[in-house]
Amino acid sequence: MTTPAQKPTLVLHICCAICGAYLSELLKDRFEIIYYYYNPNIHPEEEYMKRRESVQKLATIYQSEFIEGDYETQEWYSTIAGFEGEPEGGKRCPLCFRMRLAKTAQLAIAEGATHFTTTLATSPYKNEDIIGAIGTEIAQDLRLTFLTVTDFGESKKDIWAKTRTLAKDHDFYHQNYCGCTFSIWKK
Ligand code: SF4
Repeated sequence: MTTPAQKPTLVLHICCAICGAYLSELLKDRFEIIYYYYNPNIHPEEEYMKRRESVQKLATIYQSEFIEGDYETQEWYSTIAGFEGEPEGGKRCPLCFRMRLAKTAQLAIAEGATHFTTTLATSPYKNEDIIGAIGTEIAQDLRLTFLTVTDFGESKKDIWAKTRTLAKDHDFYHQNYCGCTFSIWKK
């Protein structure tokens, strides 16, 4: 009798269910996924709760564990201090990425996971090369493996198109700004 090989565990940092929908499809057969909602950047708290609820729904659909990180907003503001006036995509964002990915890596170690990654890299509004470099650097220091967009198995363009369709099917909450108070679109 053969025993099915155990899948490695991956901690997936997730910012919203939309970015995570199709990525879940791509990763579910390769990994045991732990969804990690660690996003102290999101403002206001009401918005944070809406996105959290949709991620919990996604984790339920994939029958996977959901873990919420601390909503440590003061730590986030301290992390990006001095870069409040930067535009989205500017110098503030790599600091925001690094804070969230570093915590994700810590959770991966605590949970005995070998891999981690983030839904952030699938967004067309974010630079996957910067996210990939930060994640890979953190992973190397901790002897973990970080999955970049290239490791997901499909092009970023295709992933985004498919995830939007899937998110509509699941009726996930769809935000209209990145997350922090500085990224709220001016009406
Ligand atoms: S714009 Fe988005 S990625 Fe950049 S600092 Fe704000 S929340 Fe973080």
